[in-house]
Amino acid sequence: MIVFYQERSHHHKTIDLPNETCTNCGNRGTLKMYLMQKYVWLFAPLLPSKKYAIIECSFCDNKIPSSEWNKKTEVIYHKEIKAIKTPVRMWRGAVLMVLLYLIPYTLIKLKVFKKATVKPLIETVNAKKTDVKDFKEGDVLFISADKANKNNTSLYDFTLAKVIKIEGDKTKLKKYTETFDFKDQNTLSLSAIDDSKFKEEIVVKTNFLREDESLVYYTKQEGMLENKVFGKSLTIIK
Ligand SMILES: [Zn+2]
Repeated sequence: MIVFYQERSHHHKTIDLPNETCTNCGNRGTLKMYLMQKYVWLFAPLLPSKKYAIIECSFCDNKIPSSEWNKKTEVIYHKEIKAIKTPVRMWRGAVLMVLLYLIPYTLIKLKVFKKATVKPLIETVNAKKTDVKDFKEGDVLFISADKANKNNTSLYDFTLAKVIKIEGDKTKLKKYTETFDFKDQNTLSLSAIDDSKFKEEIVVKTNFLREDESLVYYTKQEGMLENKVFGKSLTIIK
């Protein structure tokens, strides 16, 4: 998106300079000092910018550049510019932008919005990972699976699944009846596993498991492609 902003000028105040003479037309008392302030404008005043002054002759419209100002004029300028306060409305856009950022942030903090919980834990923490994609029949996978108990606040159950049979796109697994802690995947060994506890049979898509370690239900209505990811395989227990 291209955003065009403008720099605009706000007129604060006009000061008469009755004792000054215009260098162009020679009239005395015709010069005026205009105290101005630049600001960034984007649909509304966004941010205030620098303050400045213009001296102009009200008779001949000649502008006196600041390099030609005399000492007395300079003193007036510094005194006046200091006294000028940036109007609050010049911050309107900036305040709005901060609010637009803060409101969603606050709502997330207050848990009004739930931040997308896209399995960050599993993706990042896995230090001692055995490559899951090379799994073969007989392997025991340490998996995360959606909680059976919906009332529980935790997102996953960590358990095991044994690879029973790989037949093309179908991989038959048997799920372990016990659950574990996430960190158990690093310490658990095959010798500590009771083979008789692999009970519930699940059929998943082989390719998903090999390619991104997802556990995807194998549905019978193939044409519908209703792939439901229900967990991840995290490592192979050795
Ligand atoms: Zn003049």
